[in-house]
Amino acid sequence: MKITFLGTGGGRFSTISQRRMTGGFRIDKLNGKNYHIDPGPGALVRTYQFGLDPRTLSGVFISHAHTDHYTDGEILIEAITKGMTRNQGVIMGSRSVFEGYKKFGPCISDYHRSKSENILLKPNDVKTVNDFTIKGTKTIHGDPTGVGFQIDNGDIKISYTSDTSYFEGLSDYHEGADILIASVLRSGDRTIRGHMCSTNFIQLINEVKPKLAIMTHFGLKMLNSNPIVEARKITSKTNTKTLAAYDGLSLDINFEKPQFSRRRSLKSPRSRIYKKERETVRKKSIKNKEFDELKILKHNKK
Ligand SMILES: [Zn+2]
Ligand SMILES: [Zn+2]
Repeated sequence: MKITFLGTGGGRFSTISQRRMTGGFRIDKLNGKNYHIDPGPGALVRTYQFGLDPRTLSGVFISHAHTDHYTDGEILIEAITKGMTRNQGVIMGSRSVFEGYKKFGPCISDYHRSKSENILLKPNDVKTVNDFTIKGTKTIHGDPTGVGFQIDNGDIKISYTSDTSYFEGLSDYHEGADILIASVLRSGDRTIRGHMCSTNFIQLINEVKPKLAIMTHFGLKMLNSNPIVEARKITSKTNTKTLAAYDGLSLDINFEKPQFSRRRSLKSPRSRIYKKERETVRKKSIKNKEFDELKILKHNKK
């Protein structure tokens, strides 16, 4: 099984500026089939950019009716149904995605719904797709009908919070997750309504105790703080390996030990930027080490 991030930006301003891509992520070889989750703007293009093919998808899961999660949904459905000529594929989503709710959605037209199985998911609903189960998890977010997903194929449980505030009981929905993927829009304790910051994610990780935590969906403030530095802080505070996802990150999932899943960076014109970010972090930690050593030396001289 592979999890590939085709976009790790989130929120309006990251999306409009495309400082990070916003194509969501794919889970490939989930019981032999491929699914695209939250295909925001650019999902189709990013799929090809990272060497994947939308025509190999068997379904699209959309957590809620915000543009950074659904914009490319219909074109992926066209890919799945071979240009709407075949009855196939699964579309899963919140009520707002299918029916619309108050000012949100609908996101998929009746035409695009007509060739695939439609599964409306609410919190605590458990549906079976291709021999795996998918449970709706509660969110507290701008779209009141939004859901997260917990996928369980018997070998591994993968939970995705989607956009939500931290709230008491959020961890109950994600209980038992081996891999916990979360939208963490902001760094430190800079909370914002309807989203999590790093401090919230630390709390959630401590409650859920996954084997691997992955944060994604970064807003501009998080990007300015450097998500890699945030992930390191979270790892040290939770003793849970925490990754800051980046565009083109592909994980070869190790079912026994997800924390040791092999990581690969798929090539894209932006790979250089991320390489530079990683190098800056490395240089900084070398500098800090030298500084610490100098302090010890001075101390010993005294
Ligand atoms: Zn979002
Ligand atoms: Zn949202």
